[in-house]
Amino acid sequence: MKDIILTGDRPTGNLHLGHYVGSLQNRINLQNTLDYEKFYIMIADTQALTDNADNVDKVKNNIIQVAIDYISAGLDPNKVCIFIQSMVPELAEMTTYLMNLVTVSRLQRNPTIKEELKQRGFERTIPIGFLNYPVSQASDILAFGTTIVPVGDDQLPMIEQTREIVNSFNNTYNPTEEVFKMPKALLPKNKICARLPGLDGKLKMSKSAGNAIYLCDDSKTVKQKIMSAYTDPDHIKITDPGKIEGNVVFAYLDAFCNDEHFKKYLPEYKNLDELKSHYQQGGLGDVKVKNFLYQIIEEILTPIREKRELLIKDVNKIYEMLFENSLKASNQARKTLEKMKENMGLNYKKLLKN
Ligand code: ATP
Ligand code: MG
Repeated sequence: MKDIILTGDRPTGNLHLGHYVGSLQNRINLQNTLDYEKFYIMIADTQALTDNADNVDKVKNNIIQVAIDYISAGLDPNKVCIFIQSMVPELAEMTTYLMNLVTVSRLQRNPTIKEELKQRGFERTIPIGFLNYPVSQASDILAFGTTIVPVGDDQLPMIEQTREIVNSFNNTYNPTEEVFKMPKALLPKNKICARLPGLDGKLKMSKSAGNAIYLCDDSKTVKQKIMSAYTDPDHIKITDPGKIEGNVVFAYLDAFCNDEHFKKYLPEYKNLDELKSHYQQGGLGDVKVKNFLYQIIEEILTPIREKRELLIKDVNKIYEMLFENSLKASNQARKTLEKMKENMGLNYKKLLKN
Protein backbone atom coordinates (compact mmCIF):
# COMPACT_ATOMS: atom_id res chain seq x y z
CA MET A 1 0.00 0.00 0.00
CA LYS A 2 1.49 3.33 -1.04
CA ASP A 3 1.54 6.37 1.21
CA ILE A 4 -1.08 9.06 1.39
CA ILE A 5 0.51 12.41 2.16
CA LEU A 6 -1.18 15.48 3.63
CA THR A 7 0.24 18.75 4.79
CA GLY A 8 -0.81 22.37 4.88
CA ASP A 9 -0.28 25.98 5.83
CA ARG A 10 -2.37 28.68 7.43
CA PRO A 11 -3.24 31.55 5.06
CA THR A 12 -2.10 34.16 7.57
CA GLY A 13 0.54 35.63 5.28
CA ASN A 14 2.97 34.71 2.55
CA LEU A 15 5.21 31.70 2.89
CA HIS A 16 8.72 32.24 4.22
CA LEU A 17 12.11 30.55 4.28
CA GLY A 18 11.05 28.48 7.33
CA HIS A 19 8.31 26.92 5.23
CA TYR A 20 10.72 26.42 2.38
CA VAL A 21 13.25 24.35 4.33
CA GLY A 22 10.85 23.00 6.97
CA SER A 23 8.21 21.53 4.75
CA LEU A 24 8.11 22.74 1.12
CA GLN A 25 11.40 21.08 0.13
CA ASN A 26 10.26 17.74 1.53
CA ARG A 27 6.96 18.09 -0.30
CA ILE A 28 8.64 18.87 -3.61
CA ASN A 29 11.00 15.90 -3.25
CA LEU A 30 8.10 13.59 -2.44
CA GLN A 31 6.03 15.01 -5.28
CA ASN A 32 8.79 14.28 -7.75
CA THR A 33 9.23 10.65 -6.66
CA LEU A 34 5.58 10.08 -7.63
CA ASP A 35 5.76 7.11 -5.25
CA TYR A 36 2.53 7.80 -3.38
CA GLU A 37 -1.13 7.07 -3.70
CA LYS A 38 -2.39 10.60 -3.09
CA PHE A 39 -0.86 13.90 -2.08
CA TYR A 40 -3.05 16.56 -0.46
CA ILE A 41 -1.98 20.08 0.41
CA MET A 42 -4.47 22.01 2.45
CA ILE A 43 -4.71 25.78 2.78
CA ALA A 44 -5.90 25.87 6.39
CA ASP A 45 -8.25 28.86 6.41
CA THR A 46 -10.54 27.44 9.12
CA GLN A 47 -7.51 26.99 11.35
CA ALA A 48 -6.24 30.48 10.52
CA LEU A 49 -9.57 31.92 11.69
CA THR A 50 -9.07 30.44 15.16
CA ASP A 51 -6.76 33.34 15.98
CA ASN A 52 -8.02 35.77 13.34
CA ALA A 53 -11.79 35.68 13.91
CA ASP A 54 -12.05 39.43 13.41
CA ASN A 55 -9.87 39.47 10.31
CA VAL A 56 -11.60 37.32 7.73
CA ASP A 57 -10.31 39.49 4.89
CA LYS A 58 -6.70 38.78 5.85
CA VAL A 59 -7.33 35.04 5.78
CA LYS A 60 -9.38 35.22 2.57
CA ASN A 61 -6.80 37.32 0.70
CA ASN A 62 -3.91 35.15 1.75
CA ILE A 63 -5.42 31.97 0.27
CA ILE A 64 -4.33 32.96 -3.23
CA GLN A 65 -0.97 34.20 -1.91
CA VAL A 66 -0.18 30.85 -0.34
CA ALA A 67 -1.32 29.00 -3.47
CA ILE A 68 0.95 31.18 -5.63
CA ASP A 69 3.84 30.63 -3.23
CA TYR A 70 3.32 26.85 -3.49
CA ILE A 71 3.38 26.76 -7.25
CA SER A 72 6.24 29.28 -7.54
CA ALA A 73 8.33 27.17 -5.16
CA GLY A 74 7.81 24.06 -7.30
CA LEU A 75 4.61 22.30 -6.25
CA ASP A 76 2.74 21.07 -9.29
CA PRO A 77 -1.08 21.17 -9.15
CA ASN A 78 -1.14 18.32 -11.67
CA LYS A 79 0.62 16.07 -9.17
CA VAL A 80 -0.74 17.30 -5.83
CA CYS A 81 -4.28 18.19 -4.76
CA ILE A 82 -4.20 21.72 -3.32
CA PHE A 83 -7.51 22.56 -1.62
CA ILE A 84 -9.16 24.98 0.82
CA GLN A 85 -10.05 23.62 4.28
CA SER A 86 -13.37 25.43 4.80
CA MET A 87 -14.63 24.13 1.44
CA VAL A 88 -14.51 20.62 2.91
CA PRO A 89 -17.24 20.90 5.57
CA GLU A 90 -16.94 17.19 6.43
CA LEU A 91 -13.76 18.10 8.33
CA ALA A 92 -15.76 20.28 10.73
CA GLU A 93 -18.26 17.50 11.37
CA MET A 94 -15.48 15.03 12.08
CA THR A 95 -13.95 17.51 14.51
CA THR A 96 -17.24 17.72 16.41
CA TYR A 97 -17.10 13.98 17.20
CA LEU A 98 -13.35 13.78 17.80
CA MET A 99 -13.46 16.70 20.29
CA ASN A 100 -15.24 14.38 22.71
CA LEU A 101 -12.18 12.14 22.88
CA VAL A 102 -9.77 14.84 24.08
CA THR A 103 -9.66 16.70 27.40
CA VAL A 104 -9.13 20.43 27.85
CA SER A 105 -6.10 19.76 30.06
CA ARG A 106 -4.52 17.58 27.36
CA LEU A 107 -4.82 20.47 24.89
CA GLN A 108 -3.44 22.92 27.43
CA ARG A 109 -0.37 20.70 27.90
CA ASN A 110 0.46 20.79 24.16
CA PRO A 111 3.83 22.63 24.08
CA THR A 112 3.18 24.35 20.72
CA ILE A 113 -0.22 25.57 21.88
CA LYS A 114 1.35 26.85 25.11
CA GLU A 115 3.95 28.84 23.18
CA GLU A 116 1.41 30.17 20.68
CA LEU A 117 -1.00 31.26 23.44
CA LYS A 118 1.79 33.25 25.01
CA GLN A 119 2.87 34.75 21.70
CA ARG A 120 -0.71 35.84 20.93
CA GLY A 121 -1.46 37.16 24.44
CA PHE A 122 -4.33 34.67 24.69
CA GLU A 123 -3.51 33.28 28.13
CA ARG A 124 -6.69 34.67 29.73
CA THR A 125 -8.87 34.90 26.66
CA ILE A 126 -8.34 31.68 24.76
CA PRO A 127 -10.80 31.23 21.88
CA ILE A 128 -12.20 27.70 22.14
CA GLY A 129 -11.49 27.17 18.45
CA PHE A 130 -7.83 28.01 18.94
CA LEU A 131 -7.37 25.62 21.86
CA ASN A 132 -9.16 23.00 19.81
CA TYR A 133 -7.14 23.38 16.60
CA PRO A 134 -5.03 20.27 17.28
CA VAL A 135 -8.27 18.25 17.16
CA SER A 136 -9.38 19.98 13.98
CA GLN A 137 -5.94 19.25 12.53
CA ALA A 138 -6.36 15.59 13.51
CA SER A 139 -9.56 15.53 11.42
CA ASP A 140 -7.71 17.01 8.45
CA ILE A 141 -5.09 14.29 8.69
CA LEU A 142 -7.46 11.39 9.39
CA ALA A 143 -10.11 12.29 6.82
CA PHE A 144 -7.82 11.41 3.95
CA GLY A 145 -6.24 8.24 5.35
CA THR A 146 -2.95 10.11 5.65
CA THR A 147 0.15 8.07 6.48
CA ILE A 148 2.83 10.79 6.10
CA VAL A 149 2.69 14.43 7.19
CA PRO A 150 5.72 16.54 6.11
CA VAL A 151 6.08 19.27 8.77
CA GLY A 152 8.42 21.41 10.84
CA ASP A 153 9.04 20.33 14.42
CA ASP A 154 6.46 22.72 15.97
CA GLN A 155 3.87 20.34 14.50
CA LEU A 156 5.13 17.17 16.22
CA PRO A 157 2.75 17.60 19.19
CA MET A 158 -0.14 17.82 16.69
CA ILE A 159 0.81 14.53 15.04
CA GLU A 160 1.17 12.97 18.50
CA GLN A 161 -2.30 14.25 19.40
CA THR A 162 -3.68 12.77 16.18
CA ARG A 163 -2.15 9.38 17.01
CA GLU A 164 -3.70 9.50 20.48
CA ILE A 165 -7.08 10.25 18.92
CA VAL A 166 -6.79 7.20 16.66
CA ASN A 167 -6.12 5.00 19.71
CA SER A 168 -8.86 6.64 21.70
CA PHE A 169 -11.36 6.24 18.84
CA ASN A 170 -10.46 2.56 18.50
CA ASN A 171 -10.72 1.94 22.28
CA THR A 172 -13.99 3.82 22.62
CA TYR A 173 -15.87 2.51 19.58
CA ASN A 174 -14.18 -0.84 18.76
CA PRO A 175 -14.64 -0.33 15.01
CA THR A 176 -15.15 -3.49 12.95
CA GLU A 177 -12.94 -2.13 10.17
CA GLU A 178 -9.98 0.24 9.95
CA VAL A 179 -11.48 3.73 10.07
CA PHE A 180 -8.30 5.75 10.62
CA LYS A 181 -4.71 5.14 9.58
CA MET A 182 -1.89 5.93 12.00
CA PRO A 183 -0.03 8.97 10.57
CA LYS A 184 3.69 9.70 10.88
CA ALA A 185 5.47 13.07 10.75
CA LEU A 186 8.20 13.60 8.18
CA LEU A 187 10.78 16.12 9.38
CA PRO A 188 13.60 17.58 7.31
CA LYS A 189 16.88 15.66 7.75
CA ASN A 190 18.85 18.79 8.63
CA LYS A 191 17.84 19.65 12.22
CA ILE A 192 18.06 23.44 11.81
CA CYS A 193 15.53 23.20 8.94
CA ALA A 194 12.90 21.64 11.21
CA ARG A 195 12.74 24.89 13.16
CA LEU A 196 14.35 27.77 11.32
CA PRO A 197 14.81 30.70 13.73
CA GLY A 198 13.37 34.12 12.95
CA LEU A 199 15.52 37.16 12.10
CA ASP A 200 15.22 38.28 15.73
CA GLY A 201 16.88 35.09 16.96
CA LYS A 202 14.16 34.59 19.55
CA LEU A 203 11.21 32.67 18.14
CA LYS A 204 10.98 30.32 15.17
CA MET A 205 10.52 32.14 11.87
CA SER A 206 6.79 32.69 11.69
CA LYS A 207 4.24 34.70 9.75
CA SER A 208 2.60 35.91 12.94
CA ALA A 209 5.84 36.99 14.63
CA GLY A 210 6.97 39.45 11.90
CA ASN A 211 10.47 37.93 11.86
CA ALA A 212 10.47 36.28 8.45
CA ILE A 213 12.09 36.49 5.04
CA TYR A 214 9.25 35.80 2.62
CA LEU A 215 9.59 33.90 -0.64
CA CYS A 216 8.04 36.94 -2.37
CA ASP A 217 10.32 39.58 -0.79
CA ASP A 218 12.20 41.64 -3.37
CA SER A 219 16.02 41.73 -3.42
CA LYS A 220 16.23 45.03 -1.57
CA THR A 221 14.00 43.81 1.26
CA VAL A 222 15.92 40.54 1.52
CA LYS A 223 19.17 42.46 1.79
CA GLN A 224 17.78 44.80 4.45
CA LYS A 225 16.43 41.89 6.45
CA ILE A 226 19.66 39.91 6.31
CA MET A 227 21.68 42.98 7.30
CA SER A 228 19.43 43.41 10.35
CA ALA A 229 19.55 39.72 11.39
CA TYR A 230 20.60 38.91 14.94
CA THR A 231 24.22 37.73 15.20
CA ASP A 232 26.45 37.93 18.27
CA PRO A 233 25.94 41.17 20.23
CA ASP A 234 29.46 40.85 21.71
CA HIS A 235 31.09 40.65 18.28
CA ILE A 236 31.60 44.39 17.99
CA LYS A 237 34.98 44.80 16.30
CA ILE A 238 36.02 42.57 13.39
CA THR A 239 38.91 41.29 15.48
CA ASP A 240 36.61 40.16 18.32
CA PRO A 241 35.94 36.43 18.49
CA GLY A 242 32.35 35.67 17.47
CA LYS A 243 29.77 33.16 18.69
CA ILE A 244 28.05 30.72 16.33
CA GLU A 245 25.43 29.44 18.81
CA GLY A 246 22.27 31.52 18.60
CA ASN A 247 23.72 33.44 15.63
CA VAL A 248 20.89 33.59 13.10
CA VAL A 249 23.15 34.20 10.09
CA PHE A 250 25.10 31.01 10.76
CA ALA A 251 21.85 29.15 11.40
CA TYR A 252 20.68 30.20 7.93
CA LEU A 253 24.01 29.19 6.42
CA ASP A 254 23.59 25.78 8.10
CA ALA A 255 20.21 25.51 6.43
CA PHE A 256 21.01 26.83 2.96
CA CYS A 257 24.67 26.75 2.00
CA ASN A 258 26.78 24.04 0.41
CA ASP A 259 30.40 23.79 -0.74
CA GLU A 260 29.49 24.93 -4.25
CA HIS A 261 28.34 28.27 -2.84
CA PHE A 262 31.85 28.79 -1.43
CA LYS A 263 33.44 28.12 -4.83
CA LYS A 264 31.07 30.64 -6.42
CA TYR A 265 30.84 33.44 -3.89
CA LEU A 266 33.54 33.06 -1.23
CA PRO A 267 36.45 31.03 -2.68
CA GLU A 268 38.87 31.97 0.08
CA TYR A 269 37.03 29.43 2.29
CA LYS A 270 36.51 25.77 1.40
CA ASN A 271 33.41 25.17 3.43
CA LEU A 272 31.21 26.32 6.30
CA ASP A 273 33.42 24.76 8.97
CA GLU A 274 36.34 26.94 7.85
CA LEU A 275 34.16 30.05 7.83
CA LYS A 276 32.81 29.26 11.29
CA SER A 277 36.21 28.69 12.81
CA HIS A 278 37.53 31.98 11.40
CA TYR A 279 34.51 33.78 12.87
CA GLN A 280 35.07 32.12 16.24
CA GLN A 281 38.75 33.05 16.28
CA GLY A 282 38.06 36.69 15.36
CA GLY A 283 39.00 38.62 12.23
CA LEU A 284 35.82 38.03 10.23
CA GLY A 285 33.15 40.73 10.11
CA ASP A 286 29.39 40.17 10.13
CA VAL A 287 28.86 42.13 6.91
CA LYS A 288 31.02 39.75 4.89
CA VAL A 289 29.12 36.72 6.21
CA LYS A 290 25.79 38.44 5.65
CA ASN A 291 26.68 39.33 2.07
CA PHE A 292 27.57 35.70 1.40
CA LEU A 293 24.23 34.59 2.87
CA TYR A 294 22.41 37.20 0.79
CA GLN A 295 23.89 35.81 -2.43
CA ILE A 296 22.79 32.29 -1.53
CA ILE A 297 19.26 33.33 -0.60
CA GLU A 298 18.98 35.36 -3.79
CA GLU A 299 19.97 32.31 -5.82
CA ILE A 300 17.04 30.44 -4.25
CA LEU A 301 14.49 33.25 -4.39
CA THR A 302 15.12 34.65 -7.88
CA PRO A 303 13.44 31.82 -9.83
CA ILE A 304 10.58 31.70 -7.29
CA ARG A 305 9.98 35.44 -7.78
CA GLU A 306 10.03 35.08 -11.56
CA LYS A 307 7.44 32.29 -11.49
CA ARG A 308 5.26 34.35 -9.12
CA GLU A 309 5.25 37.27 -11.59
CA LEU A 310 3.76 34.99 -14.25
CA LEU A 311 1.23 33.30 -11.97
CA ILE A 312 -0.16 36.50 -10.53
CA LYS A 313 -1.41 37.46 -14.02
CA ASP A 314 -4.06 34.73 -14.01
CA VAL A 315 -5.37 34.21 -10.49
CA ASN A 316 -8.73 32.94 -11.79
CA LYS A 317 -7.04 29.84 -13.11
CA ILE A 318 -5.60 29.17 -9.65
CA TYR A 319 -8.92 29.80 -7.88
CA GLU A 320 -10.64 27.40 -10.29
CA MET A 321 -8.05 24.74 -9.56
CA LEU A 322 -8.54 25.27 -5.79
CA PHE A 323 -12.33 25.05 -5.99
CA GLU A 324 -12.27 21.95 -8.16
CA ASN A 325 -9.79 20.23 -5.83
CA SER A 326 -11.79 21.21 -2.75
CA LEU A 327 -14.76 19.36 -4.21
CA LYS A 328 -12.64 16.27 -4.80
CA ALA A 329 -11.26 16.48 -1.24
CA SER A 330 -14.79 16.86 0.09
CA ASN A 331 -15.89 13.67 -1.68
CA GLN A 332 -12.98 11.79 -0.19
CA ALA A 333 -13.56 13.17 3.32
CA ARG A 334 -17.26 12.27 3.14
CA LYS A 335 -16.34 8.61 2.67
CA THR A 336 -14.25 8.65 5.86
CA LEU A 337 -16.92 10.60 7.76
CA GLU A 338 -19.57 8.05 6.81
CA LYS A 339 -17.34 5.15 7.81
CA MET A 340 -16.56 6.89 11.09
CA LYS A 341 -20.24 7.49 11.95
CA GLU A 342 -21.19 3.96 10.98
CA ASN A 343 -18.53 2.57 13.33
CA MET A 344 -19.60 4.89 16.14
CA GLY A 345 -23.14 3.55 15.81
CA LEU A 346 -24.45 6.86 14.39
CA ASN A 347 -26.35 5.03 11.66
CA TYR A 348 -29.94 6.03 12.40
CA LYS A 349 -31.28 4.93 9.04
CA LYS A 350 -30.85 1.37 10.28
CA LEU A 351 -33.58 2.07 12.87
CA LEU A 352 -36.21 2.08 10.13
CA LYS A 353 -38.16 -1.17 10.17
CA ASN A 354 -38.91 -2.83 6.82
P1 ATP B 1 1.56 31.33 11.86
O1 ATP B 1 2.49 32.31 12.51
O2 ATP B 1 0.31 31.94 11.30
O3 ATP B 1 1.27 30.11 12.72
P2 ATP B 1 3.67 29.93 10.54
O4 ATP B 1 4.73 30.78 9.97
O5 ATP B 1 3.91 29.26 11.85
O6 ATP B 1 2.34 30.81 10.57
P3 ATP B 1 2.17 27.69 9.57
O7 ATP B 1 1.20 27.88 8.47
O8 ATP B 1 1.65 27.63 10.96
O9 ATP B 1 3.29 28.84 9.46
O10 ATP B 1 3.06 26.38 9.32
C1 ATP B 1 2.98 25.62 8.13
C2 ATP B 1 4.06 24.56 8.07
O11 ATP B 1 5.36 25.14 8.03
C3 ATP B 1 4.09 23.61 9.29
O12 ATP B 1 4.42 22.32 8.82
C4 ATP B 1 5.21 24.15 10.13
O13 ATP B 1 5.81 23.14 10.92
C5 ATP B 1 6.19 24.63 9.07
N1 ATP B 1 6.97 25.76 9.59
C6 ATP B 1 6.50 26.97 9.96
N2 ATP B 1 7.49 27.74 10.43
C7 ATP B 1 8.64 27.01 10.34
C8 ATP B 1 10.02 27.26 10.66
N3 ATP B 1 10.40 28.43 11.16
N4 ATP B 1 10.91 26.27 10.43
C9 ATP B 1 10.53 25.09 9.90
N5 ATP B 1 9.25 24.78 9.59
C10 ATP B 1 8.31 25.73 9.79
MG1 MG C 1 2.28 28.22 12.85
